[in-house]
Amino acid sequence: MAHPATRKLESITRRGTRLPRVSNEHGQVRDEHLEGEREARRQLALAQIRQWPDPVLGMRAHEVEEFDDDLRRLVERMTALMLDANGVGLAANQAGVVRRVFVFRRHDHDEPVAAVNPRIADPSEEREMDDEGCLSLQRVLLPVERHVSLTLEAQDETGAEFRLELTGLDARVVQHELDHLDGLLILERTTPEARREAMATLRPQPILG
Ligand SMILES: [Zn+2]
Repeated sequence: MAHPATRKLESITRRGTRLPRVSNEHGQVRDEHLEGEREARRQLALAQIRQWPDPVLGMRAHEVEEFDDDLRRLVERMTALMLDANGVGLAANQAGVVRRVFVFRRHDHDEPVAAVNPRIADPSEEREMDDEGCLSLQRVLLPVERHVSLTLEAQDETGAEFRLELTGLDARVVQHELDHLDGLLILERTTPEARREAMATLRPQPILG
């Protein structure tokens, strides 16, 4: 999932990886160089992420039964794609694989989480509307209502069960990614007006010349 808050995550990462400046001038050059490389990596990652209206995005992904090297490689590839694309979450459908796996980044946690065969337990009655972006729907942000908190129950890539109690953006990302595994996009979750506007943005423009 791409979200306005990724900007915040991104700036934290950038601060964390910034090299000490020799002088302002050198620092500036180095930063621009890093920015350029980062943007190139982001574009490469986005080119490998399935884009709407790819039919794989509308498919229900299958339960994972084998916790083998294939699965570990898939999790590694998805994690790299998510980080390079500056996303906070990515579901397997978006990498062209219809298996019930997603990866996401928790607010204030460095280590990405892989969730295999994920389920949501104890969703809060309280819901909240907020804008969401999606790495498969570039250039649109859509208001989506989500549970404010929930418990994520899943397996890791070795098959071990785990539970995470999540709130706010973390809970929102999990609901977004689980929707992907059920073949649902934010286009189907948003208001009719927002959907109409988004379709106008997404509809392919005629290429002249
Ligand atoms: Zn998405």
